[in-house]
Amino acid sequence: MTGTGPDRRTRADVVVVGAGVVGLCAAREAAALGLSVAVCDPEPAGGASFAAAGMLAPTAEARPGERRLHALAESSAAAWPEFAARLEEQSGVAVGLRQEGALSVAFDPDDLRALAEVVDVQISMGCKAELLGARECRRLEPALSPRVTGGAFNPGDNQVDTRAVLRALLACLDHAGVTMLAESASRLVVQGGRALGVQTRTGHLVEAGTVVLAAGCRSGELAGLQPDEVPPVRPVKGQILRLQTNPDEPLLTRTVRAEVQGRHVYLVPRVHGELVVGATMEELGHDTTVTAGAVHDLLRAALAAVPDVAEASLSEATARSRPGTPDNGPLIGHGLTAGLLVATGHFRHGVLLAPATSAALSELMQGRPVSGPAAAFPALRFAAAGPASAAVTGPGHEGTV
Ligand SMILES: Cc1cc2nc3c(=O)[nH]c(=O)nc-3n(C[C@H](O)[C@H](O)[C@H](O)COP(=O)(O)OP(=O)(O)OC[C@H]3O[C@@H](n4cnc5c(N)ncnc54)[C@H](O)[C@@H]3O)c2cc1C
Repeated sequence: MTGTGPDRRTRADVVVVGAGVVGLCAAREAAALGLSVAVCDPEPAGGASFAAAGMLAPTAEARPGERRLHALAESSAAAWPEFAARLEEQSGVAVGLRQEGALSVAFDPDDLRALAEVVDVQISMGCKAELLGARECRRLEPALSPRVTGGAFNPGDNQVDTRAVLRALLACLDHAGVTMLAESASRLVVQGGRALGVQTRTGHLVEAGTVVLAAGCRSGELAGLQPDEVPPVRPVKGQILRLQTNPDEPLLTRTVRAEVQGRHVYLVPRVHGELVVGATMEELGHDTTVTAGAVHDLLRAALAAVPDVAEASLSEATARSRPGTPDNGPLIGHGLTAGLLVATGHFRHGVLLAPATSAALSELMQGRPVSGPAAAFPALRFAAAGPASAAVTGPGHEGTV
């Protein structure tokens, strides 16, 4: 790779636009294939990934009508232990994978009825879910309110410390000699139907035969894309809190999700006493304002489920936008422009889907088709002509890019 010179050019085999969990995984896979890599992001690890609670929850997030997404989530959750071990080994950063399962609890009889319906759906989708009485819930988590009426245990739902994962991925890229450019990409540079790289807002040209578009909820804003390959992503705002509890006396030992008089809240305990409380889902466009109402609602529900939350200090309130798609599934695959790979739209599941996304991107960068459940989420499935149109003009790569 050539460095940045007075002509403001950088050359690499692969340029990744966006350094959230998805873009960082893409860059790590490219580097692992022996390719030279540049990553453009004005605020690396500062998007949705910065906010994410780190739940790896294929069961609690299972929705009727999302069976293919559920299959992808299950396979990615199963890959997390090995993914975390390799990431820790390569980076020297502990990523805080915890495998204690998750507990969903209900506050009043109506919440319990709603939870039982959810568990029925989970079981019909083949998930591991077991209904528990109130006493069993409190035996698992003694800090739960005595008003909790019952719950369900999901042994396959785990968690990881997302910010530690981001630090680990950045460390891997540093070790691999990846060039990090603190710049915003403004345009895909195309010649003769082939991607030549990207131009940044400051006029810097980053030349690369492969461009990975992983700019989260802003992935649709890159100029130079053909209309049918613009990723149909929209921002879905999430507000989330970080509290600090006494690390010597953890309030909770596993993720607790609570239904409190129709309001959903989750509490994710970290090893050093941090408690993550989230999150809102708001269709408000690009808005990252933290509102008093959201903080109030999240804390009210969390306190109802776990009263001792009142003793915790409030250390952070954050709002970021998830990259939502029309079917809630990610967009992973070739664009119409040869050399363009799209990896975005991970909505509520970007952390959970990191191993599966990494594997799929590695396949694509080796010129192979995506295998396994990720194959159901090609980037062009919403394009007018559908994914098949990619075969007409692209990908144009033979073998390793
Ligand atoms: C409150 C909240 C809680 C969540 N909890 C969970 C959870 O528990 N488990 C889970 O699996 N998922 C969770 N998610 C979802 C998860 O955070 C996302 O799916 C994931 O972070 C998406 O990753 P990404 O890399 O695609 O996007 P992002 O993390 O948003 O990264 C995109 C990056 O692109 C950069 N960028 C944008 N435009 C440009 C440009 N033009 N040029 C260069 N760079 C650009 C941005 O600066 C940003 O760093 C949560 C999300 C939120 C908001």
